[in-house]
Amino acid sequence: MLPLIIGGLVAAVGFAAGALTSHAAGEKDRQAAKQLEKVNTDLINKRDALERRYRELTDETNDQVNDLQRKLIESELEKDALFLVVRLQNSLLLLMQVIDREASFEVLFQFREAVNQTNIVLAHIGEELIPIPKDYFSRNLTRAKLKVAKLGKALTEEQKLLIQQLSTTASEGSISCPKCRQQNAVMKNVPSLKCGGCGSLIDLISVQDEIHWNARTVPSLAAQ
Ligand SMILES: [Zn+2]
Repeated sequence: MLPLIIGGLVAAVGFAAGALTSHAAGEKDRQAAKQLEKVNTDLINKRDALERRYRELTDETNDQVNDLQRKLIESELEKDALFLVVRLQNSLLLLMQVIDREASFEVLFQFREAVNQTNIVLAHIGEELIPIPKDYFSRNLTRAKLKVAKLGKALTEEQKLLIQQLSTTASEGSISCPKCRQQNAVMKNVPSLKCGGCGSLIDLISVQDEIHWNARTVPSLAAQ
């Protein structure tokens, strides 16, 4: 149990730190940026300490530790890990709010990965998953697109890739193309889309009975 939890936490903190740093860099409110930086430093320090202690414990050349000591260290590590999960949850809820004020593709992507990784850990220890509002990713993806459009800029290749990766979470359903059977992500209130497989235009209103709407509201546990 411990290797999985620590591995998941290390990955989750990595993504959360990426999201916190990127968002803080673009934050106009200095006070808010400082708070995010502080949360980030705290998370990284706690993760590093946990990882270091875990490495010491699992280091095979370390024969100074007997079985009893090992059990003690393991239970301490578990406690530290749980403490870090709670910190991580709080940081992600904070991040969720600040992204809702100012969204960008990069931050949204790292946030989603952090949530997925944290949820894997939470599911493993039998805790409730981080509650993400149903339309959270789709609305912020739209906002980020609008922001780029308002600046009169074209999307970079990197941004296009991020949109593609995010749209699996942002989508609220899927439709298989009537011509080539390729699965396409569907958003609510969008009347048509261009098939990603054959490029033909799919009129979603005429095929609405064939749209498969997602029942899940929380990002999937499997990292995508
Ligand atoms: Zn097609």
